[in-house]
Amino acid sequence: VEHYCSRIEQYAHLNAFLEVFKVEALLRAEEIQKKIDDGTAGKLAGMIIGLKDNISFKGHEMTASSKILEGYQAVYSATVTKKILNEDAIIIGRLNCDEFAMGASNETSFFGPVKNFADQTKVSGGSSGGSAVAVQAGLCFASLASDTGGSIRQPAAFCGVVGLKPTYSRVSRYGVVAYASSFDQVGPITRSVDDAALILEVIAGNDIHDSTSSNVKVFEYSKLLDDKRKKKIAYIEETLHSEGLDPEIKNNILAQLQKLKDNGHTVKPVSFEYLDHVVATYYILTTAEASSNLARYDGVHYGYRSPDAKDLISTYKKSRSEGFGEEVKRRIMLGTFVLSAGYYDAYYSKAQKARRLIKEKMDHILEDYDFIITPTTPTPAFNIGEEITDPVVMYLADIFTVGASLAGLPAISIPSGETESGLPIGMQIIGKRFKEEELLAFAKHI
Ligand code: GLN
Repeated sequence: VEHYCSRIEQYAHLNAFLEVFKVEALLRAEEIQKKIDDGTAGKLAGMIIGLKDNISFKGHEMTASSKILEGYQAVYSATVTKKILNEDAIIIGRLNCDEFAMGASNETSFFGPVKNFADQTKVSGGSSGGSAVAVQAGLCFASLASDTGGSIRQPAAFCGVVGLKPTYSRVSRYGVVAYASSFDQVGPITRSVDDAALILEVIAGNDIHDSTSSNVKVFEYSKLLDDKRKKKIAYIEETLHSEGLDPEIKNNILAQLQKLKDNGHTVKPVSFEYLDHVVATYYILTTAEASSNLARYDGVHYGYRSPDAKDLISTYKKSRSEGFGEEVKRRIMLGTFVLSAGYYDAYYSKAQKARRLIKEKMDHILEDYDFIITPTTPTPAFNIGEEITDPVVMYLADIFTVGASLAGLPAISIPSGETESGLPIGMQIIGKRFKEEELLAFAKHI
């Protein structure tokens, strides 16, 4: 704990942590040391973990990096928080993220951007930028984050670490700030696949507090990592011709696919004709869900209330106008629009149908193949300030990650090399529904 706390101080300028629970973590470390000495310690004993600031930890502030929740204290712990604490993890602090997990660069945070440890002029990725940089810079051992359309995988790729989004419903969302409930999943960001497997086996499983959580059996993923059988791998042809794909990333993925072939795996191109539509489908559905989920921040129940509020309507209007940032407001308006009576069929209902086609197509590919491989991101980490001015450009950063989110499939980003200028490159592997053990074993093997 002391080691990590001093590194957090040394690298405070990266802006990864919003708060450090130093005193509490030190006390807990002493208790856990005793358990280790007695031989009664849990699976994560001594693991120092940071929490993305949209995961509740009872008695601690949680803001989702928004002004509207400034000062809000979690009144209960998320199921994932309880589960890691039950296994004797030590929670070291709260990690910066995009406001309400909406973003791909951590620049929408009310508390400012997180800087990439590989190059501080570059973004960390988002929305879990703090969670990725904290692991990249060695400010904690591992972190928990959430992924709606890439928020674990994309920052992991930008920071050269491992990021796992489990199958939708594999992990309870109870106590996690809702962005788009039919997409949101909690997962680990770690330095190794082994650590991701261990954390997943702790946090996964059915939860009576989340009716969408699955009761499909959870395995001890960390003990199932030595599958070295040859696999059938599909890569999506369209990803390699996609506009905006950085040539260094393209060459990196081509070299990886060749290496897999050389090692005896079957590697074949498949066509995924919906690639151009995944981003639009994702943003229609997630903004619709967000507009509903964020209705609860009304200046009455939680956090910020405008000092100029006079009556009920002005409390709503002023608190929300002052409390939410630009990107969040844009999404609430977009989501309200696509759900409005006149446009529901044209946008929301159509996007639901597109989602089903995308899911069916991906499931279909995975009937013939074990995995689908894509680059995690079309470009390496971009400059801070460069893309934040154009939301459409920013949304396109999600083109390779939102497919698995629309389909609810598990996907992992693993480090795949570096650009000439030393920026990390990530490779995404998408697996079969609830087959995290296969996905993790293959990720570790390669
Ligand atoms: N960049 C995507 C978005 O802004 C993904 C965010 C996420 O996964 N939480 O919606």
